[in-house]
Amino acid sequence: MTSEYEPVIGLEIHAQLLTRSKMFCACPASYGAAPNTLVCPVCLGLPGALPVANETAVEFAVTMGLATDCTIARRSVFARKNYFYPDCPKNYQITQYDAPLCTGGHIRIDGNDKKIRIKRIHLEEDAGKLVHSDEENSSYVDMNRVGIPLIEIVTEPDLRSPAEASLFMQKLRAILRYLEICDGNMEEGSLRCDVNVSLRKTGTGKHGVNTEIKNLNSFKAIEQALDYEVERQKALLGQGLAVSHATLLWDDAAGECRVMRSKEEAHDYRYFPEPDLRVLEVSDTLIERARASLPELPAAKEKRFVGDFGIPAYDAQLLTATKEISDYYEIVARESGNPKAASNWVMGEVLRELNERKIEIPMFEITPERLARLIREVEKGTINIPTAKSVFKEMAKTGHDPEVIIAGKGLEQIGDEAELDEIIGKVLDNHPSEVAMYLAGKVTLLKFLVGQVMKASKGKAHPQKTTDRLKTLLEERRDD
Ligand code: ADP
Ligand code: MG
Ligand code: ZN
Repeated sequence: MTSEYEPVIGLEIHAQLLTRSKMFCACPASYGAAPNTLVCPVCLGLPGALPVANETAVEFAVTMGLATDCTIARRSVFARKNYFYPDCPKNYQITQYDAPLCTGGHIRIDGNDKKIRIKRIHLEEDAGKLVHSDEENSSYVDMNRVGIPLIEIVTEPDLRSPAEASLFMQKLRAILRYLEICDGNMEEGSLRCDVNVSLRKTGTGKHGVNTEIKNLNSFKAIEQALDYEVERQKALLGQGLAVSHATLLWDDAAGECRVMRSKEEAHDYRYFPEPDLRVLEVSDTLIERARASLPELPAAKEKRFVGDFGIPAYDAQLLTATKEISDYYEIVARESGNPKAASNWVMGEVLRELNERKIEIPMFEITPERLARLIREVEKGTINIPTAKSVFKEMAKTGHDPEVIIAGKGLEQIGDEAELDEIIGKVLDNHPSEVAMYLAGKVTLLKFLVGQVMKASKGKAHPQKTTDRLKTLLEERRDD
């Protein structure tokens, strides 16, 4: 389907940094404490209190800049963004404005084929949290979150569909997690995404008027909100009406966007350089330290998995989505000696089990070494795949070794010809009409007969040998 208009999408992402203390004071940057207990004169904005920049937060931001090929500014400037809101005790937020820490990077998506440019990454502080209670007809404010370090990542409007925007966000989250600078938990708000979207006549370069949808807290919400907004703008433009430059809120339950306010402009915030902080100077030592701390990132790992293990790019992308899964897979691939089988097991059984039980790799009973040994039993022909899947379930339940379960339950596969022939002979004797029909040309009945042999052997018959022997023994009955 061709469309007259194409979406133009750019994202603004806020990521809370996993530092121990806040951005400009020594308060703990942690969660779950009683409201308004993790506060001090600095983050509460009491008169005379002075901020000091958190060096670890700067280093984390530089790390993200390096990971996305940004230029790191040796000198950048903190700025005041002035606004009044109950969750902002200073009546301004310290952020960076015209001199940000990182500029001009990119992240690749689509099997590394497409580059999405990063306009800037800057440091700022989070606001507090308002808690509304309809029951009590009251609102409360918790200042514990005030001053938690954030990086804001702003992309160029290079994304061309809602699905692409969600995909980009997944890549970005993977990078943050590999770097261990943000936990990436969108539901809990430690990673938040605002999307900007406009439409333009397909193939032209001129951008249309965009709207901004605030605070989307899942990949699904990003895609659904954008789908909704693209359709709304299409309808407006189709009727010859204009899109107005507004800020919208996505209502997850209703599945629609609502107008929050007409778009504020930069001059509304009266930005000016933060007088209480010096110019942020980043030393060679800090940059080198950040560079040295960079792990192998998802894109590089994906490439290496394809090269080293000969698995499809699709598998490699899935297996590198988190560092834990990729590390797990790598051990299974090496120790099982069959990287493709390892990939099938990890993408299938392992991820299913983790999802169903909502647990993470470190809590999973089946260590990668154990899974590799299970795969080796299949490779050796001790058990077939259906049996291996039931052994896997047992391993997950009991935490036992695969060899112990196989021997304990006598699950070894039957590959011995005489033993197989005996089972097959009985099955054929019990199904004379199917045998006759098969021999009369209904060869699809072979599958049924294999199934009967499997049943008779309690799932232990060697599938390929069973098929081979069945064919032979059926032919032997042709002249009877
Ligand atoms: P503003 O000053 O309005 O915040 P920026 O240039 O800083 O604008 O861009 C903010 C975000 O909006 C960026 O992610 C950018 O990619 C995106 N954006 C800018 N113009 C458009 C547009 N016409 N359509 C869609 N997104 C846009
Ligand atoms: Mg903006
Ligand atoms: Zn404080």
